[in-house]
Amino acid sequence: MKKALVCGAGGFIGGHLVKKLKKEGYWVRGIDIKNHEWSPDAADEFLLLDLRIEENCRKALTLGSGTFDEVYQLAADMGGMGFIHSAETEIMHNSALINIYMTDLAAQMGVPRYFFSSSVCVYRDMKPGEPEMEEKEAIPAHPDNEYGWEKLYSERIAQAYERRYGIQVRIARFQNCYGPEGTWMGGREKAPAAMCRKVAEVQDGGIVEVWGDGSAIRSYTYVSDMVDGIFLIMHSDLHGAVNIGCPQYVTVDELVDTVAKVAGKKIKIKHVQGPVGVQSRNFSNERIYSIGWKAKINLEEGIKLTYPWVEKQVKNHR
Ligand code: NAD
Repeated sequence: MKKALVCGAGGFIGGHLVKKLKKEGYWVRGIDIKNHEWSPDAADEFLLLDLRIEENCRKALTLGSGTFDEVYQLAADMGGMGFIHSAETEIMHNSALINIYMTDLAAQMGVPRYFFSSSVCVYRDMKPGEPEMEEKEAIPAHPDNEYGWEKLYSERIAQAYERRYGIQVRIARFQNCYGPEGTWMGGREKAPAAMCRKVAEVQDGGIVEVWGDGSAIRSYTYVSDMVDGIFLIMHSDLHGAVNIGCPQYVTVDELVDTVAKVAGKKIKIKHVQGPVGVQSRNFSNERIYSIGWKAKINLEEGIKLTYPWVEKQVKNHR
């Protein structure tokens, strides 16, 4: 039986990845600084460890005998735009430490395959209608935020260790990911979960506040498509970073309209001041298409799977 380590298993994508690996027949150890709120027993073993501490990374990677066959590094100090703009130093400090120690120890302890979760935040801002950007165009670098700079640095650490130690490194740059069992309140939630919460909180005909003018363009990838992509990339021969994203691009206002349609509510959008991030996104998915991945779930289908879950959390929280 193959053994996998998932760092960040108490989080949204890590939690779904644990379930995917279990379905694929793996023995899985999850690591996080906190328990998974909704699926705490999904992994075979779950250790609460702070991966900013080198000794804890060693504990995470240590097995009774042999090494893990695969390590998936998703632990990060992260959140949506509100968090990214207010916690620059925490992101630069905490996530960098996790990646510095995890990459070094995984390479030195003989892990054969290592996955690193990067982000499309490594790319510069784009204008609406610009041609698709390929992975190699992240350099020369001009990320819009410190979160993107940390990801780019950590990508480069992992690639340097691959050159030195021969550890097989796979890197994915995720587009915005959404689905059930993700952060939906508290300041770290991302736009789809935040919009589901805001629509769930208002009555029919109510007002939903949107940061900025609502015209920023994004694509949103449903979490089952994301973990399928992670698994495929990990087992592929694709070296270097690979974008994973649904090719359906919408404005933030269109995202809100989709949520309202799924909720069966008429709402009014009120644009207010707040952190927005880049104006536009348009990335090539050719690399991941070359290994047979395509997003299966479009935005409306994904929101239909997500909104009822967020609505239930809102009701339970009242
Ligand atoms: P998440 O916040 O739900 O999961 C990250 C997990 O890392 C959390 O459970 C957190 O507790 C854990 N963590 C933080 N500091 C830690 C520490 N010191 N030691 C141990 N664990 C620690 O986020 P997510 O949405 O599941 O994201 C997973 C990965 O994917 C992250 O690396 C993130 O940067 C990346 N990513 C996510 C998105 C997205 O849209 N969700 C987009 C691009 C990239």
